[in-house]
Amino acid sequence: AIGPTPQETSESGAHEKTQKNQDKDAATSNTEEKFDSLNDALAPAMSLEDTRSLMEENKKLRDLRMCKICMENDASIAMLPCGHLCCCADCAPAMRKCPICRQFVKGTVRTWLA
Ligand SMILES: [Zn+2]
Ligand SMILES: [Zn+2]
Repeated sequence: AIGPTPQETSESGAHEKTQKNQDKDAATSNTEEKFDSLNDALAPAMSLEDTRSLMEENKKLRDLRMCKICMENDASIAMLPCGHLCCCADCAPAMRKCPICRQFVKGTVRTWLA
């Protein structure tokens, strides 16, 4: 009676323990894996993408706002009647035609970015 009983108990106990540990390990590693892939997918890549797209957006906006003639000042004079905002105050007076659409400039409007 003494012989097989402890053996059986320890065996089933060990088996149970192993089973539980495996379950726990699997669950833990699954969760960690999920978090890892989340971090990989979101945190570093996203911030890098964000920075890059922000910089690109910034450059685009700056290029858009830039005087198309001297490329130094912000464009602040809108041509009439076409309405293209393409020249700075220095260059606009020299423009007979809109540099964008080649329409004859009949007037200019000083614009201000609020
Ligand atoms: Zn200019
Ligand atoms: Zn124009």
